[in-house]
Amino acid sequence: MSSQQPPLGISFEFFPPGTEVGREKLLQVRDALASRQPRFFSVTYGAGGSTQARTRQAVRAVGESGITTAPHLSCIGSEKAQLRELLAEYREEGHDSLVALRGDMPSGMASIGELRYANELVEFIREETGDHFDIAVAAYPESHPQASNLDRDVENFVRKMHAGADMAITQYFFTAEAYFHFVDKARALGVEKPIIPGIMPIVNYTKLARFSDACGAEIPRWIRKQLESYGDDADAIAEFGTEVVTRLCQELLDGGAPGLHFYTLNQSVPVLKIVDQLRA
Ligand code: FAD
Repeated sequence: MSSQQPPLGISFEFFPPGTEVGREKLLQVRDALASRQPRFFSVTYGAGGSTQARTRQAVRAVGESGITTAPHLSCIGSEKAQLRELLAEYREEGHDSLVALRGDMPSGMASIGELRYANELVEFIREETGDHFDIAVAAYPESHPQASNLDRDVENFVRKMHAGADMAITQYFFTAEAYFHFVDKARALGVEKPIIPGIMPIVNYTKLARFSDACGAEIPRWIRKQLESYGDDADAIAEFGTEVVTRLCQELLDGGAPGLHFYTLNQSVPVLKIVDQLRA
């Protein structure tokens, strides 16, 4: 699909850069991706508020595009007063969308905080701000790594949807069936809101493998073997990765997925190579 065709239901996620060079690059990436008319951008948040200032700065910069920008917000390691203040600030700055997460406890942090799970954060946001924010939460088609099994994890997912979330964005995966199976399970438990697949472009195999092990996303054996065979050949990895992920995206859209959310890693080229080949 070229940028001239009708827009797909896509959204793009950024992390808050830590350097001036990173901040300048983010503006270029933002503009390149804005040209594909996304539904929204989002900006991640370090658990325990560790990137609070940088996230706010990046949210402001990304939001200047005029495209809805959803800050991520996590509750682990935070007190209610801190979250209340942040919600008020986002509201004053004109934001009306959030991605609400539990987050992961940073090493060295002593206190879990007042809210233990994402469903409690969603309840808190609703109590504090009513219907002001559209709230997205996280979903795990291959199960959250700490969950005892997929059924328990889906029940916990449903709990946060019923607490007042408007949509969900999934962890990335490379097997479309995992997504459709998860959606069927959630629908059977009464979730009607959109569940958007999260899409990770394949750019750097070593980093992808490390991150996938940590977050519980499965890289199928045939993909792993092929990527390993390329060694340091970044072009071959990128070409194969684009082909695999584009096919996955098309399969998801053809199967009824209500959109695609791209983990951009603050790079536009790998994402655009995929997006520009998709048919709505
Ligand atoms: P929860 O929904 O609270 O689930 C965490 C675990 O607890 C699961 O195993 C679940 O089954 C279980 N559980 C949930 N509720 C209950 C309950 N009431 N009782 C008992 N068990 C329960 N991390 C960041 O630090 N910053 C980010 O910006 C960020 N953005 C993300 C965006 C997306 C789209 C996704 C998919 C993940 C993101 N993460 C981010 C990672 C996320 O913070 C971690 O995966 C974290 O471990 C879980 O967060 P959660 O909101 O899914 O937690």
